[in-house]
Amino acid sequence: QKLAEAERAKRPSFSFEFFPPKTAQGVQNLYDRMDRMHDLGPAFIDVTWGAGGHLSQLTCEMVRAAQSAYGLETCMHLTCTDMEKSKVDAALKDAYNAGCTNILALRGDPPREEEKWEAKSEQFRYAKDLVKYIKETYGNHFDIGVAGYPEGCDDNDDSEELVEHLKEKIDAGGTFVVTQMFYDVDNFLEWVQKCRNRGINVPIIPGIMPIHTHAAFMRRANWVRCKIPQAWTEALEPIKNDDAAVRDVGKGLVAEMCRQMLNNGINHLHFYTMNLAQATRMVLEELKIVPDAQTPLEKPLPWRQSLGLN
Ligand code: FAD
Repeated sequence: QKLAEAERAKRPSFSFEFFPPKTAQGVQNLYDRMDRMHDLGPAFIDVTWGAGGHLSQLTCEMVRAAQSAYGLETCMHLTCTDMEKSKVDAALKDAYNAGCTNILALRGDPPREEEKWEAKSEQFRYAKDLVKYIKETYGNHFDIGVAGYPEGCDDNDDSEELVEHLKEKIDAGGTFVVTQMFYDVDNFLEWVQKCRNRGINVPIIPGIMPIHTHAAFMRRANWVRCKIPQAWTEALEPIKNDDAAVRDVGKGLVAEMCRQMLNNGINHLHFYTMNLAQATRMVLEELKIVPDAQTPLEKPLPWRQSLGLN
């Protein structure tokens, strides 16, 4: 028994990100999909924070549903610069009441029409302010994740400075890091080492965007300005109009980047599903880490254990 548990603890774990859909039909479709993806055995799922009225309410509802109806360990994203303090309080209370014990604390995407951030409250200028507030208000109830950027973030390309700011978020109470999407694994592994050298010792979870179509792949990579390795361009460009071929080749490329990370001490993979199941499932099947007849679904390890949190 103990040996099996130890063996299982060494098996890579993975998680899925979902976002609140804009329509009621979209919400229903997503719940159906979450139900099916539950059978793949994610260690947890997370739900992005849809800033503003309806969508932020939906984030809270999705967290409640995933946590109670689907029995999924859930992490709620929460942004702060675009929120009044009362809204931050209400969201945290909702998460607490839903039995959610994990928050990804973020500054938030800048409003599209505005170039620069104007924080709504001086209390919440950066993500670290939210981390500090959650810690002060809820003690150790929540594990608090923070965002990391191996290739720079929307308003800062200075990777040294970003590592400093990441360290501040961890010092304020962050207990794990989830990264922005990337495809350059060598750069990611170097960046992890930089973080370790700077004394960032919490689990670092790579954010992975599977490839659904060529257009979506390019759009998302360009959106976050992440580097696309030359070999990927050469493999995908000639087949870009054939969605099935792109998914198939993309699956191989993404699985290979995951393998390289797993071989280098990363034990948990986080997938940006874009609310779609197929491309993520294909990568997991290629990696042979989904349940099958030989290795049926076991209850996923408790979230803290699967990440190696104390
Ligand atoms: P911060 O860590 O606060 O950094 C923001 C900027 O401020 C950076 O340029 C940083 O260098 C700078 N900075 C930080 N501290 C200091 C300091 N002490 N002095 C000077 N400058 C400083 N957005 C959403 O709206 N909803 C989501 O659900 C969401 N989920 C995300 C999930 C992940 C994994 C990631 C990587 C991003 C997500 N985002 C989301 C986007 C995120 O909100 C944006 O990238 C945002 O611009 C930065 O957020 P942050 O939490 O990293 O901010």
